[in-house]
Amino acid sequence: TAKRVSSPQKTIFAQMTALAKEYNAINLGQGFPNMPCASFIKEFAQEGIHKNLNQYAPSSGLPLLTQAIANLYSPQFSNPIDPAKNITVTVGATEAIFATCQAFVEEGDEVILFEPFYDSYPASIKMAGGTPVYIPLTYENDEWVFDRDELEKLFNNNTKLIFINTPHNPCGKIFTTEELSFIAQLCLKYNVLAVCDEVYEYMIFDNNQHQRMANMEGMAEHTITISSAGKTFGVTGWKIGWIIANDKWIQAICEARQWISFSVATPLQYGIAKAIEKAQQNDFFTTMQQEYQQKRDLLINCLQKSNLQVCKPNATYFIMADHSDYNFSDDVAFCEYLTKEVGVTAIPPSFFYSASHRHLAKNYVRFCFCKDEETLANAGKKLEKLH
Ligand code: PMP
Ligand code: GLN
Repeated sequence: TAKRVSSPQKTIFAQMTALAKEYNAINLGQGFPNMPCASFIKEFAQEGIHKNLNQYAPSSGLPLLTQAIANLYSPQFSNPIDPAKNITVTVGATEAIFATCQAFVEEGDEVILFEPFYDSYPASIKMAGGTPVYIPLTYENDEWVFDRDELEKLFNNNTKLIFINTPHNPCGKIFTTEELSFIAQLCLKYNVLAVCDEVYEYMIFDNNQHQRMANMEGMAEHTITISSAGKTFGVTGWKIGWIIANDKWIQAICEARQWISFSVATPLQYGIAKAIEKAQQNDFFTTMQQEYQQKRDLLINCLQKSNLQVCKPNATYFIMADHSDYNFSDDVAFCEYLTKEVGVTAIPPSFFYSASHRHLAKNYVRFCFCKDEETLANAGKKLEKLH
């Protein structure tokens, strides 16, 4: 086996899902909804198949979808979005992340990651020959924050990219305008591209606002924005993602993409194009957000009853909680006990940290609340066993 794929383990999401199955535990680990997606979304995909849209789509995306994406985002971006030049469709956000690294990272380049990170970032950076460098987020006064001096010290002439996942999995943090503008100044000073993974952009709670790096002064030309239909439309299995960036960067990414997936499932691109159009007409985004906020509050309530200290998320469908009231050696030991003895599966967040910062995660556990209310309530009952 080549060294680049010789990591001995499956992802922590796959491991915990397998463990949940083995112990018949309620799976609040891997982030996928257990509710069916809205009927209109299913119908549009079927319509795509029946319309015989079953052959290769253009590599950069089905024009109907790139146009729908441009229509959806144009009012939200300060720079105009040309569907033929500023967008490419990808196999989920995962391919977008991988292709971006392939397009820009050379041997010896450094890429800055906030910890906890999404696990595909370091893997994609290393497979492109780059070196990830890390800045931790820490929970202080009800906010996840980072040390600005420490971040500044990571920037140098070898820095190629910085990944910013906002809203952030697993912390539920929305990076503030001040934070983004601080990072933007460093990107401009060191000629670094900001890769913004915004897959949870439509899951924002309590009147918070999603802020876009692409709209910070001078950053339109320095930002790669990534998103995915998997989260927004509750269809993680469809793997339809996209990238918005200036034409030069999209061209480079498309060159990489033509050797990775070449193109993305045509009828599903059609389905998402129509779903985006429909969602704008029937206020789908607002309704979905309200439903998720109720689920968040339900799970927060259960976790608090069980003496877990909740870090209330402003966005996403994840909750980080502190389990230090129970005396477990670390997050892995706690999550193992939780699945095997309590019957609820969660994710140990130390897998989202570099080796030297892993200890920062030892008191935390990540729960996912994109589940029907019955599942969340049953998980709550089981969690009472923790006492
Ligand atoms: N980025 C983040 C932060 C995620 O949480 C996920 C999936 N949960 C992805 C990217 C991957 O998205 P996709 O399933 O569209 O590949
Ligand atoms: N992104 C999902 C999560 O955070 C998992 C996706 C995967 O299994 N790779 O839970």
